[in-house]
Amino acid sequence: MRLLVVIGTRPEAIKLAPLVHALRDNPAFSVAVCTTSQHSDLLQPMLEFFGLHCDWDLHCMRAGQTLAGLSQKVLAGLDDLLVREHFDRLVVQGDTTTAFVAALAAFYRGVAVDHIEAGLRSGDLQHPFPEEANRRLADVVAANLFAPTEGARQNLLREGYPSERIFVTGNTGIDALWLARGLVEREARPLPIALERGARLALVTAHRRESFGPGLERIGRALIHLTDRHPELHILYPVHPNPNVLAAATRTLGGRVRIHLLDPLSYPDFVRTLAAADLVLTDSGGVQEEAPVFGKRVLVLRETTERPEGIAAGTAELVGTDEQRIVDRAEALLALHGPQTAVSPYGDGHASQRIVEVLQTGALAQPFGS
Ligand code: UDP
Repeated sequence: MRLLVVIGTRPEAIKLAPLVHALRDNPAFSVAVCTTSQHSDLLQPMLEFFGLHCDWDLHCMRAGQTLAGLSQKVLAGLDDLLVREHFDRLVVQGDTTTAFVAALAAFYRGVAVDHIEAGLRSGDLQHPFPEEANRRLADVVAANLFAPTEGARQNLLREGYPSERIFVTGNTGIDALWLARGLVEREARPLPIALERGARLALVTAHRRESFGPGLERIGRALIHLTDRHPELHILYPVHPNPNVLAAATRTLGGRVRIHLLDPLSYPDFVRTLAAADLVLTDSGGVQEEAPVFGKRVLVLRETTERPEGIAAGTAELVGTDEQRIVDRAEALLALHGPQTAVSPYGDGHASQRIVEVLQTGALAQPFGS
């Protein structure tokens, strides 16, 4: 079976790498990888870390490009490739423009689509934008729907997708995390910033499009307030290179004592920092899934989440971008000294094997969580 795996952004590289390796280990499959380079600077180090060789690069990103401009390039580039090369199936992951548009290109050419991380829903098409629409649209054109959790399966069933096309596998991001965690534990490398004895560490990521502008400003003011009130607290904020995020972070937080604005961290450095953090504040989807693997509770800097399992399990809490609410809830978590004991509801490290099993046999003996 000849498969084309399409990767556009950092999280897709992380979440598809374990699957590409599992497929390549299996002689039943021949796997090619195409990148759209939707993220260019963020993507390359991830591909290198996971040893992912890309057979084609469509170079779709341009500075200041619109979503329509990006979609146009992905659609045309993929269509051209699908005409030149024969593939039995095309694999996409998640909710990016790359994932949706590549799935659409395959659908138009009659190539069966496998959607990894299907069925996530925030319930609000505008939040996150455009990801909520992208993930729904990718599901519409997919043949196999690989839902990470039972909750995602239920979302798909409610929308009328037939149960025989839905497979609950766990999230492949947790497979990647297990790979990286082993490496991080073997290598005794220091954290990206030096901390004095007794210091406490907050890890922050914030880059969602709907927070651009006032939302990011409010998050910034909350972080300043927290470091003012807690002299032992250091904030490590690897800043997304998106110009809107970089400008807001630098303007609000640049030069502030104990607020460390860093370039994006390598995946192992990010995992190492997550494992050491006393507090995690994020608007990232992947980080909501990863934090509980290390027993960390997360404050989610958004109004909605498509990952309600963490909320139900008490590993995550929605705090939005309200300054006072962020400060209050961060202080409540900082007051809980001692090891945190959250448990991951998102995966067990075997999602990729389950996906391979479905692709090979058409069925899944033991769904995740059963
Ligand atoms: N990540 C990383 N370095 C960083 C920040 C994040 O390696 O400086 C990883 C993180 O471990 C997670 C992924 O990037 O797996 C999340 O990516 P992002 O927040 O861009 O996307 P989302 O998860 O929101 O789709």
